[in-house]
Amino acid sequence: MSEPKKLYIKTYGCQMNVYDSERMSEALGGQGYVETQSPEDADMILLNTCHIREKAAEKVYSELGRFKGLKAEKPDLKIGVAGCVAQAEGEEIMRRQPLVDLVVGPQSYHRLPELEAKTRAGEKALDTDFPEEDKFEKLKNRPKAKRGPTAFLTVQEGCDKFCAFCVVPYTRGAEVSRPADRILREAQDLVERGVREITLLGQNVNAYHGAGPDGDMTLAGLVWELNKIDGLERIRFTTSHPNDMTDDLIEAHGTCEKLMPYLHLPVQSGSDKILKRMNRSHTAESYLRLIERIREARPDILMSGDFIVGFPEETEEDFQATLDLVEQVRYGYAYSFKYSTRPGTPAAERPQVDPQEADDRLQRLQALITRHQREIQDAMVGRTVRVLFEKPGRLAGQMVGKSEYLHAVHVSGADLSAGDLRNVRITASGANSLAGEVL
Ligand code: SAM
Ligand code: SF4
Repeated sequence: MSEPKKLYIKTYGCQMNVYDSERMSEALGGQGYVETQSPEDADMILLNTCHIREKAAEKVYSELGRFKGLKAEKPDLKIGVAGCVAQAEGEEIMRRQPLVDLVVGPQSYHRLPELEAKTRAGEKALDTDFPEEDKFEKLKNRPKAKRGPTAFLTVQEGCDKFCAFCVVPYTRGAEVSRPADRILREAQDLVERGVREITLLGQNVNAYHGAGPDGDMTLAGLVWELNKIDGLERIRFTTSHPNDMTDDLIEAHGTCEKLMPYLHLPVQSGSDKILKRMNRSHTAESYLRLIERIREARPDILMSGDFIVGFPEETEEDFQATLDLVEQVRYGYAYSFKYSTRPGTPAAERPQVDPQEADDRLQRLQALITRHQREIQDAMVGRTVRVLFEKPGRLAGQMVGKSEYLHAVHVSGADLSAGDLRNVRITASGANSLAGEVL
């Protein structure tokens, strides 16, 4: 038997890319590839890229430049670029960096085996189409090997919202939902392989409306179907848009026992003027009311969000409105970014905020978010949470897992394995994690 070929994948950006990388690795598994953690060993290097913020493409070019030496030593080495930079730059990548053999956009992964074969025949391979066929259906069934207790599962892709700052509608295309039966089959397979927690993924996951047995199914409908799978203990989903938080989904947060009390619900800004210019189609007030309703359904839910500061024409007053909103919500986690110009998006042409001013606002916002995050985490001390253990910690005899609220929890000196779900009393709160003892 011939030696397996080695594949090195580097993943940038969001969780959807993490899922896509797994599926690409599985697709190339059928071509005799196994994954390696070191680019030096690889017969193929794939960069699965993200285009959400500025300089993403430049970073990819500089990363590619670093493989020059490897390619010179090993002429058979194939180098590929996947993901949203591949989609946005297309052929330009091969023009600017001739050592690239393969460019594949996020909608064409199922064609990777053919593209790989083309590179082996000495040709360049490029596919950035938005094909009609369902890539997930065309991808081989997932292998049956055992795996860790948590998994991502993409249920929806693309976006029709066109926020004025965002490239996703251009790089990932229009909103598409996968049929429910295929998702449920994939979830069942994951559970048989040892998975106990599934995070449903989509750029607008709560806009999910995949075909079900009685017409389109909502995300809440899908969650209730997943709730029936024996052996699956936890369900999460991300990322949601405030406008798609339907009544049935809010209600599920109060009644569906496997749906975890954690919700990532980006708002981007607390100023109605800025929200309007961002084309977000919600106001600060409607967002706050929505959170109130979610908290009525599930009082202990931990909220998380995304913010952009320094969006064109944001004044100090607008920024203060964002700080006010954060004060009211008190996020357990939040991701904040300085606005970054994306060519081709409507906001790119507008007057920009002074970069130093934007930096200063970002620091102030992050300080407030960090304070709340700390306070919420510290308040867990003395409480009992349920932890799904995932892997050994850095210290001998230590295991680390996640609570319902997605806090990392370390436990030492207990007889635990990955996949165990235990009640843990929290005894300490550290910089980014909690420590506790199994009850
Ligand atoms: N669909 C999700 C939503 O509506 O919030 C988020 C998708 S996006 C991949 C993740 C986050 O990146 C956004 O919530 C936003 O905060 C940030 N982001 C997107 N475009 C950006 C830009 N041009 N500059 C700075 N941050 C940006
Ligand atoms: Fe981008 Fe807005 Fe769509 Fe989220 S909802 S992916 S921020 S366009």
